[in-house]
Amino acid sequence: MQKKINLLGCSLESLEDFFIGLKEPKFRAKQIFKWIHQKGVLDFDLMTDFNKTLREKLKSVAIIEPPKIHEEFVSNEGTIKYLIELNSGSMIEMVVIPEKNRRTLCVSSQAGCALQCTFCATGAQGFEQNLDSYEIIGQLWLANFSNKNKPITNVVFMGMGEPLLNYDAVIESAKIMKDQLAYGLSRKRITISTSGIVPNINKLSNEIDVSLAISLHAADDKLRDEIVPINNKYPIKSLIAACKDYLASYENKRSITIEYILIEGINDTIDHAKKLTKLLSDISCKINLIPFNSFPGSDYKRPSNNKINAFKKYLMSKGFIATLRITRGDGVDAACGQLVGNLSNSIKGKKLITHKSI
Ligand code: SAH
Ligand code: SF4
Repeated sequence: MQKKINLLGCSLESLEDFFIGLKEPKFRAKQIFKWIHQKGVLDFDLMTDFNKTLREKLKSVAIIEPPKIHEEFVSNEGTIKYLIELNSGSMIEMVVIPEKNRRTLCVSSQAGCALQCTFCATGAQGFEQNLDSYEIIGQLWLANFSNKNKPITNVVFMGMGEPLLNYDAVIESAKIMKDQLAYGLSRKRITISTSGIVPNINKLSNEIDVSLAISLHAADDKLRDEIVPINNKYPIKSLIAACKDYLASYENKRSITIEYILIEGINDTIDHAKKLTKLLSDISCKINLIPFNSFPGSDYKRPSNNKINAFKKYLMSKGFIATLRITRGDGVDAACGQLVGNLSNSIKGKKLITHKSI
């Protein structure tokens, strides 16, 4: 029997192709798209504008299924970490960060990661698999519709994995996030964070308009080769050139976010800050400083607040917009770089909700 297609992961364009393939009118795509992503309905039988014959036909070739929430952890300040089980049995994590005027979802694009940045728990875990587009958009669907959750206003691809190494599924899911007939998130509300997969940064602006964040973390190749090993393949010069081309491909002025993790004794001196400002001198960007978040097995430490503030102050003195990422979710191991999709690492949760199924 042919494997059934999971319509949850299909952009409007793909759904139109799907209905054309079934010899059904194209407008059906819009109807089903709205049922799934605006009303949260996954059951073909509840789609009242489809007659019984069509519903049966759809059931014979398609399913609409998000991944399963395995467990949920809530930290004191309200950050929620979800452990999610994929069809393969692999676990991934997603994090919901509620703030005053927004609700940000941090999605995973891969289970594990092959790139092994030295400061990242996901990298230490190794690579398990790419997520399918339904498993990526499924995270947003779950965050919006399970447990009568409040709607997500922002999505960041900063969970587990390197989004630009799962390019097609990431683009397909981001198209659904942006679509007015689905979640309608503007480009400013969707951020793809990459450790610097240069050929795919070069492709990105032709395919989708979202915000781009580059995980730089070091301004010279020697140090970056060491802490972000993908730099050996795509060195800083090629990465900076890709950033410039990316910015030049848009007519209206925009900027990219440069992420810079601060690790004590590794990349946190004023000398490092100087190199960074030189490297970024002609790039329209804002710099987001992320104090290192610890995880079991890592010897790295977070610099003192004095050191962090001095680094930030130096960047600002050179005219850069520099922000400090306030760590959210540390209490439930949900902060940047702490995601592992592993139960034994998730037992720190303050309040535990176990989902048998949703
Ligand atoms: N693979 C992508 C996206 C996931 S990581 C990337 O590397 O950009 C999301 C962000 O968390 C990246 O900027 C990453 O460098 C940062 N990060 C990873 N481990 C961290 C840690 N232990 N503490 C703080 N930030 C970390
Ligand atoms: Fe992968 Fe990003 Fe972690 Fe590096 S920081 S190992 S690219 S998830």
